[in-house]
Amino acid sequence: MPKHPDHYLDYMARYADDTAALRQDIHHHPELGFEEFRTSDLVAERLLAWGYEVDRGLGGTGVVGRLKRGDGQRTLGIRADMDALPITEETGLPYASRHAGVMHACGHDGHTAMLLGAARYLAEQGEFSGTLNLIFQPAEESLGGAKRMIEEGLFDKFPCDAIFAMHNMPGMEQGRLMFREGSAMASSDYVTITLTGKGGHSAMPHLAVDPIVAAASIVMALQTIVSRNADPQEIAIVTVAAIQAGKANNVIPNSAVLELSVRSLSKELRKLIEQRIKGIVMAQAQSFGVEAVIDYREGYAVLVNTPDETQFAREIGRQLVGDDNVEPQCDALTASEDFAFMLEKRPGCYLFIGNGERGAPGGCDVHNPAYDFNDRNLPVGAAYWAMLTEHYLR
Ligand SMILES: [Zn+2]
Ligand SMILES: [Zn+2]
Repeated sequence: MPKHPDHYLDYMARYADDTAALRQDIHHHPELGFEEFRTSDLVAERLLAWGYEVDRGLGGTGVVGRLKRGDGQRTLGIRADMDALPITEETGLPYASRHAGVMHACGHDGHTAMLLGAARYLAEQGEFSGTLNLIFQPAEESLGGAKRMIEEGLFDKFPCDAIFAMHNMPGMEQGRLMFREGSAMASSDYVTITLTGKGGHSAMPHLAVDPIVAAASIVMALQTIVSRNADPQEIAIVTVAAIQAGKANNVIPNSAVLELSVRSLSKELRKLIEQRIKGIVMAQAQSFGVEAVIDYREGYAVLVNTPDETQFAREIGRQLVGDDNVEPQCDALTASEDFAFMLEKRPGCYLFIGNGERGAPGGCDVHNPAYDFNDRNLPVGAAYWAMLTEHYLR
């Protein structure tokens, strides 16, 4: 017999203070990607105390807690991220970061605490048959901790039929659950373009080859990729976020460097944008007589939620918080997320939980010095993972 959703919420409510204290303790001691030493100690200690088999070291500071029940063959993975950001906190909270320049400004303290909240319930009274893998990963913020865990054998060591993860979302009502089947978050690539001409005196431009004029033309030409090459129905972003060139008004510099951020929501479009950037830059450079070198680095992949797992995750959400508090197919996000690499290997779903509307508690955007995870989400998120586990490993 499936349990009533209140069963999970009531349990989590009993431990709400403890889970909040845990979250605030992690918040007070933030650690950057691949340096989550204290945090991973704390996670491993709790899991061990509750009877999990604990594996450490995948991705450096990664922790996986495994719990087997019954003789079920199904395997499930739920992932939380543990890293903080290089930001100096300005919340003034009693549990604010004790380390200048490091802050949990993306709510990964909350994601970790939510999953630990579920871990306690599942160890104490979880009714399921199969294998549960709780994956605590390092370095989600740009450093690719998920990718490293996979490369070091995560899914060979811990097979998972499906994987799930959750991120908080400021600007949305606290506790509201949002789902999206298909492409849900963008790929993110970094491009550095170095243009080399020939420096000279500003008064004698005919004796120089000016890289600044070439750079200016390239910046404008790059705008045609989104406006003329990308399908207008699809999301594409080409942002030139930095230009470095020259120091004085009477000197034409030797070189100019452009830094780009490129995002899209499909593999095909991602490829097309790359080809167009390379084509435009090389042709423009040639026309201005400068030499161009392009360093094109692939960042996170497009995050794609699979249909069956999204439907399953959505149904759990509906039962737990009710239809009115579920967004069944939300808009895609142009931010990126390294859970995308896990979803390239296994079917699954990445969902969002509202952190609070703008102006309300939890409404401040992530990656902002005034941000804080909303502790009211801890019981909801923990109950969600507990319920999802018991249903998936029925
Ligand atoms: Zn972040
Ligand atoms: Zn995040």
